[in-house]
Amino acid sequence: MNRNFVVAIDGTSGSGKTTTAKKVAEHFGWVYLETGATYRAVAYVVLKQGKDPRKESEVTQVLKGLRLDVKCSEKGQRTFVNGEDVTDYLRKDEIDKAVTPVSKMKVVREWLVGVQRKISRNQNVVVEGRDIGTIVFPDADLKIYMDAELEIRARRRKKQKGNTVSLDEVKKDLKRRDYHDSTRSESPLKKAPDAFFLDTTSLSIEGQVDWVVSKVKQLNESITSI
Ligand code: C5P
Repeated sequence: MNRNFVVAIDGTSGSGKTTTAKKVAEHFGWVYLETGATYRAVAYVVLKQGKDPRKESEVTQVLKGLRLDVKCSEKGQRTFVNGEDVTDYLRKDEIDKAVTPVSKMKVVREWLVGVQRKISRNQNVVVEGRDIGTIVFPDADLKIYMDAELEIRARRRKKQKGNTVSLDEVKKDLKRRDYHDSTRSESPLKKAPDAFFLDTTSLSIEGQVDWVVSKVKQLNESITSI
């Protein structure tokens, strides 16, 4: 492959985006970027500095002087704020809550889209999030929108979280985030018109990965034969 290739994967929480993106990147030896972690990292710093995640003026203050880096390793993406590895804190319940108001703010989105584009520059990348095919990389080579039935997504999330929460609580949180992510005015979660739709309700992770890998191969063949 002799040009930079961008695969954009968007979709609902628990649809399998993260694992699929990671495994597809691994398959091709490409960089993988989980943009949800960048929103979570901002929410983490906001809480750590004792600021209110619903107050734009306080969140804007936090962004000033903030340095956000991601590093990819065989264990997946590690996220750093001002040099501190915060990856292990990002999936906590308080971050699940604080990330919603923070990710609605235009100032946060503009700042993070710049960071995300910079990380992805000049590389073959698989980027996943909510607005990758619509806003971050509207010219991505391949766009995929993933979704699955709520019950299935909740079971997948519950498995990751273990016994810290009940299935009902997970379901409630997914519903809440689906609602806020898809109805916000700034970069709402939606399928780009030119994205392929992938329903993962009855697919295994291997099935999802194979599907995306074969789409990349098909596309690459058609690009290199032009
Ligand atoms: O993907 P993940 O569940 O970690 O994302 C956490 C939250 O970050 C989402 O619920 C959404 O509000 C926000 N997000 C976003 N745009 C992205 C990625 C995540 O608004 N590209």
